[in-house]
Formats: sequence, structure tokens, C-alpha cells
Amino acid sequence: MDTIKEVEFKLDGRIYTAEVRRNKVGDRGWAKSIAYVWEDIADHLDDSMLEKAAEVSKAQSKRTKIGEFPLVDAAYKVHNALVIAIKHRILFTALLHLCDDAAAVGMRFSRKAGCNCGCSPGFVLQGLGRGVSLFIERKKVQEVKRAA
Ligand SMILES: [Zn+2]
Repeated sequence: MDTIKEVEFKLDGRIYTAEVRRNKVGDRGWAKSIAYVWEDIADHLDDSMLEKAAEVSKAQSKRTKIGEFPLVDAAYKVHNALVIAIKHRILFTALLHLCDDAAAVGMRFSRKAGCNCGCSPGFVLQGLGRGVSLFIERKKVQEVKRAA
């Protein structure tokens, strides 16, 4: 894949890299522009709210089937909204470093952004042009040390 642009940026004292690549023409959905944000959510949120919901519901664990424990489902809904908000913030910061008008870029989270089976959730981008993908990830501590 062709890298068009790559930037490094800081957020909350963490260092991220954002890479813009041109999609391969002919790949399924190549014309779509999608941003993938990899982040260790445990560094932002713990599971104590989910565990409390499971405890109050008298569920065996926080891993329940949807519909079995409505309170646990409700807790996951809140948790997942925060996960998306955290990733959204990282993505928006990346766009501030990549382009002049981040506000002009449409960002819509989709569980099925990259694949219909749900294995590649991401943000469908509008206004960045056709067929580019944005890959955002946190720099490994080792790499950060080496750069220092
Ligand atoms: Zn898949």
C-alpha cells in the first residue's frame, strides 16, 4: 500500500502515529475512506462499572448474553459509547495534524466499517477523497524510548 502521509502526534502525554494510505483499487470497498484507531482502552477505562452491573444483576460474570441481563446490557451500552468517544478524540486529533480543516471531515463510527463480519470496526470518513485509509496507533514504549 502506498503511504501518502505520515504524522506523529501527542495526546494526553502519549505518542501516536497516523498513516494515510491509498487503498488498492479492486479491493472490496476500496473507494470508501476508513480510519482505524488502535488503542489500549484499559489505559483509559477499567471494567469496574461492568463488574458492578453484573454483581447487582447476580450474573456469573460481566460476560453475559445480550438480553439475559438488561442491566449489564445497559452498562455495556454506556461503556461502548465511551470507547467510541475515546477513539473519536484520537482520530480528531490525528486529523488536526493531517489537514487544515478537520471539522470538514465527516466521521461516522461503524462496527462493520472495514468488513461485513464486524472484525474491522472503524470510522467511515467523508470529505477526505476516495479510497484512502487512515491507520492510527500508539507508539510502543520501546520506540518512544529509542526516539528520545
Ligand atoms: Zn471480517
